[in-house]
Formats: sequence, C-alpha cells, structure tokens
Amino acid sequence: MPSAAATDDGWSTRHSVLAVARRTAALVNVLAGDRPDPADIADVLRAHGEAGPIELTPRDVAGMRTAAALLRDVFAAEDVDGAALALNRLLADGTGPLRLTAHGGGTPWHPHLDRDDDAAWNEWFLASSCMALTVVLWDRQRPPGRLCSSPSCRNVFITQGSGPERRYCCRRCATRERVAAHRRSRPSA
Ligand SMILES: [Zn+2]
Repeated sequence: MPSAAATDDGWSTRHSVLAVARRTAALVNVLAGDRPDPADIADVLRAHGEAGPIELTPRDVAGMRTAAALLRDVFAAEDVDGAALALNRLLADGTGPLRLTAHGGGTPWHPHLDRDDDAAWNEWFLASSCMALTVVLWDRQRPPGRLCSSPSCRNVFITQGSGPERRYCCRRCATRERVAAHRRSRPSA
C-alpha cells in the first residue's frame, strides 16, 4: 500500500522522523471531523510524500479515525512522562515488533512497526506514527506534540526541538487568541 518513488527529490528527508511526525499531526487533524472526506485524507497523504494511487474505502477511513483518536492521547498528554505512557500503551496494544524495510528498494531503509509492507492503512498509520513520535520524544525528552491552545480549535501539532513552547497550531489561531485576549483586557465602554 503506502509506497514512495525512489526518483523523487527529497528521497531521504521525506522519510525523516520529523517528516513522519508532521504527517501524523496532519492526519490526526484531517481525521478529526465527523465525516472526513477520503479525498482530503488522500491529499494529506500525497502532500507528505505518498506516491501512486490512494484508494481509501469507508472501512479504511473508519480504521484510520480510530487510530487518530488513539494517537490524540499522545498529543493531549500534560508532559513528557504522560506522552511516554500514552505511547507505551499504543506500542503494547497496537503495533508489531520492530523491523526494517526498504520497500523493495524504493526507499531508504527505515524502521516499521506494522506487520508487513502490505498492512492495511489504519495499521500502517498507527504503527508509523507511534514510531516517529517515539523517536522524537526520545530525541528531545519533551512531548512530541501538543493540542492547539485555542478553545475553538481541535488541531494537534508537532512541537519545536528547542526554545519556548509553541501554544497554537498555526499563526491564524495565535492571532485570533491574541485579539480575543486584547478585547477581554479592555474595560468595556
Ligand atoms: Zn489551532
């Protein structure tokens, strides 16, 4: 199923841990709606390097939504310990043993936690996401991601490696909340 063309630019960066972590956040977000459009999900997969035809059945989408809801626990964790516990639960219940694959020579060798290269979309999504979030947490000793602090937004995002913690998923949410806080701080006329 998921595959990638060997000739593409960014052959190795596209398979970097951070690239997979960002894809995880984008998929969790697109799958958060009540009825995610399979075309939107396919667009996110393509934007993150998935090559070839992407056919998602209603069953695939349902399975991916379940995986996204499970992964949300990692983003919702208060601190690094909570994120590690959430990931350990997923690694114990939802993923297979660690293995290496190069998809028959189409990609650089990289680790997988799904059973094989033909795993169903939901299994691949959960396993590849757990792998990336685990390595990011290991590397930074911080939660790999966060929920957006805007009360009107349900998005998750991948946190920066260092520096002050980002609170919002995007500039639009940050601006909206800054304006709202400014309004609240002004005495009413
Ligand atoms: Zn947001």
